[in-house]
Amino acid sequence: MTGARELARLIVPVCCPGCGRDDVRWCDECEAPWWEDPYRSEENAPRLHRLGEVPIAVWSIAELEGSPQLMIEAWKDSQRRDLDSFFKEAMARAAGSVAAEITTAKRIAVIALPARRSSTRRRGVDLPAMLATACAQRWRAAGSDAVAVPALTMRRAESRGLSARERWRGAQQSMRLSRPVDGTRAVVLVDDVMTTGATLAAARDRLEAAGAVVCAGLTLATAPMRGKSPSVGLGWESEADELSDTFDGRGGD
Ligand SMILES: [Zn+2]
Repeated sequence: MTGARELARLIVPVCCPGCGRDDVRWCDECEAPWWEDPYRSEENAPRLHRLGEVPIAVWSIAELEGSPQLMIEAWKDSQRRDLDSFFKEAMARAAGSVAAEITTAKRIAVIALPARRSSTRRRGVDLPAMLATACAQRWRAAGSDAVAVPALTMRRAESRGLSARERWRGAQQSMRLSRPVDGTRAVVLVDDVMTTGATLAAARDRLEAAGAVVCAGLTLATAPMRGKSPSVGLGWESEADELSDTFDGRGGD
């Protein structure tokens, strides 16, 4: 260990965010799940589904529980900015793994679900946008004309004093299209976490109302189906923990 690293360790003790093991940024066991091939996760997202419609295909790398969940939480909530490059690489790898399916569309717009501005300010980085950029780069490398387009933003919403349902509705309405969408590009939605799918569904609604065609989604992690009900959100819908205080069950970001 270099002197500088040793000094840094004395100042800020480092440990694996997945299991708490000391003196490693992350351990091999907790890293391993993030290099698995992504799985189809849309069936675990009840709010993604609309009656009479085929849900979009969504891939996720890990289930949001245990060590993967702790790693995501450390990344999103605890200023573990050293995990930015970790998750960016994991997402790029996953994007490569599904490139054969995604790049059947030659022209792709990769659109990140919007992060709450206060979260981005606190972190100094827009996490979903970072993931979207990684995906677009990977699909360009696979021969597609893929661009990351920051088309969605989150409007500040006052949620105090509202019921869970009102807050949820407010969150749905707070997602805004910030630029025109190019209807000739197939849209792939990218986010860090999917719980119920409500945020992806809201993004799809916004974009399709503007003439876009949303084809697929890709997230780092998806909450397992267990305990979910179509009528009650789990409360941790991505930076839609943006929407965090807008869903039942989980407090603010
Ligand atoms: Zn670990």
